[in-house]
Order: sequence, then C-alpha cells, then structure tokens
Amino acid sequence: MPTKPHFFASHHFERMAHRRDQDAWLERRRNSGKSWFLPVAASKNLVFEGPPPAAALLTLEQVDMLSCPHVYLGEYKARSCFALLTEPDHDPGWPGTGYQQVLQLATIIDTAEASLLAYARAMSIWHRNHRHCGRCGADTVSTQAGHVLVCSDPDCGWQQFPRVDPAIIVLVSDGERCLLGRQASWDAGRYSTIAGFVEPGESLEDAVIREVYEESGIVAHSPVYHSSQPWPFPSSLMLGFQASAASSEIHLRDGELEDADWFTPDDLASGTRIKLAPSVSISRRLVDDWYYQRTGTKLEATDAPPKAW
Ligand SMILES: [Zn+2]
Repeated sequence: MPTKPHFFASHHFERMAHRRDQDAWLERRRNSGKSWFLPVAASKNLVFEGPPPAAALLTLEQVDMLSCPHVYLGEYKARSCFALLTEPDHDPGWPGTGYQQVLQLATIIDTAEASLLAYARAMSIWHRNHRHCGRCGADTVSTQAGHVLVCSDPDCGWQQFPRVDPAIIVLVSDGERCLLGRQASWDAGRYSTIAGFVEPGESLEDAVIREVYEESGIVAHSPVYHSSQPWPFPSSLMLGFQASAASSEIHLRDGELEDADWFTPDDLASGTRIKLAPSVSISRRLVDDWYYQRTGTKLEATDAPPKAW
C-alpha cells in the first residue's frame, strides 16, 4: 500500500554493517580527507542554519574533535559518515552553524540529510544513556564502530546494543469515519491517529487493540499492517496499522488523550474542525491513504512544523 519510503527512513545511505569490525578500514576512511563528520551534542545536531537549513557535513580539516567518541554511520554519496559525539556545551566555532533539534527542521530540510541526522542523534543519545553496564555498573567501552557497548569488567562482559522501542500507530475506521485524538500539549486543534508502545510479550496486533481501547474506549478489530517509520526521538519505531471499529462510543480511559472523536473525509478536507500532522509523519500517511481509499482524491498537504510532536 505505501507508495514511497517514509521520512527518516535510511534508504538514502548504506549502513555497511559488515565494516564495523574492520578497524584498519575504518581508520583509513576516518583519515582519508574525504569522509564527513556530523557533530551531535546530546540530542542536537550541528546544522548550517541557512535558510534553508542543511546538515553540517564537515571534513577532517574542519573538525578538531577526533578525540570525541564517534560512530560509523555508513556511506552516503560515496563518502564515509561518522557521528561525532560532543558535549551539550560544545561550541562548534563555525560561522553560520548551530546545534538544533532535527525534528523541528523536518519539514524544511533535505530528506536524505534528515535521515542521517536522526540516525546520528539516536546513536548519540544511546551512548549517553549507556555509559555504564546495566548488569554490574562498570564503565562501558565502545566497540563495533560505536554500535556495541561492552562492559569493561572482563568478568562481566555484558554487551549492549542500540535500543529500538516498537510502537504501534493505527487509523481506526467505522467505514464512514476515522478515529483521531489529541494530547493536551499539542497545537490547538491538532488531531492524530492513536499510538502507543508495544509491551513485552505482546504481539503488534494485540497492542493495536489494547491501545485503541485504553485511549478511546473503542473496540477495534482486524488490524492490518500498513508500513513502518523510524522515529528516533529518541528510539521509537512506528509500526502503522489500519483497523476496524466494532463500537462507536468514545470514553477517554487512560487520560493520555485530551479529546478523541470521529471525523468524516469532509472534516479532514475542510480543515475547519481539525489540523492534521505534517506529511513527514506516518500518522499523516495513514490519514492520507484512508482518505484516498474513501474518496479517490488526495488530501492537501499541510507542512508547518508543529510546536510539539
Ligand atoms: Zn558489567
């Protein structure tokens, strides 16, 4: 069903995972003068502020930070890319650059660069949050080009891998209307599809039915997989579904939503009742595809970045 890859998906570059244990190759690439370095300070990426903004893809001559921990991201435009993990107070010292949240640039930055920045950001946060072994508390050591953190105590040796948290996101329909909800922190009038994290021991399909009932009181059935979107803010993988409703009366059961309601295709198109998420989000793709299935026409894109996602 999806017609194109989602925003933040990494199809623009090659991860080259088989190179991560090849230290000599990585060293040559780091020092080749052709590689690109992407500084990340905790959750913020270094960007040329523009306009328009662009990823700061720095060369070896431009960075004085090779003592920073770094992570090999892969090959992009025939260049090796490394995330440089700097500290939150790092001053890049380059005119026209600054550290920014890539999610706030999502609607105005190049798609491929956004994927690289989001990937680098996710690795930076994971490194910051796993400086110690979760089993014995000793320091961890970065291995596999930054993709495995190993306990420094040889008697322990616990390995930690980059974390990904699966979350379902679902468009529920009763045939004529779709179910959307809003959180209190969102921009006024903005509604989105139902979403929530998958729990241990739970299938994606069971998570869909549980989350819809918890958040809206609606009984959903027959979930059908749609597509997935990496959402590394900090570490989610959104797994999109469509599902049918077996009930219609809404009860906000768990307090996560401020409101939830049913919306017709006309409600979506007119924009008078609600605002939808930008087209970079899987939520919007689910709504767009449902609208197209119902009407045979496309919804107009609205791409202003929201204040809070
Ligand atoms: Zn340990």
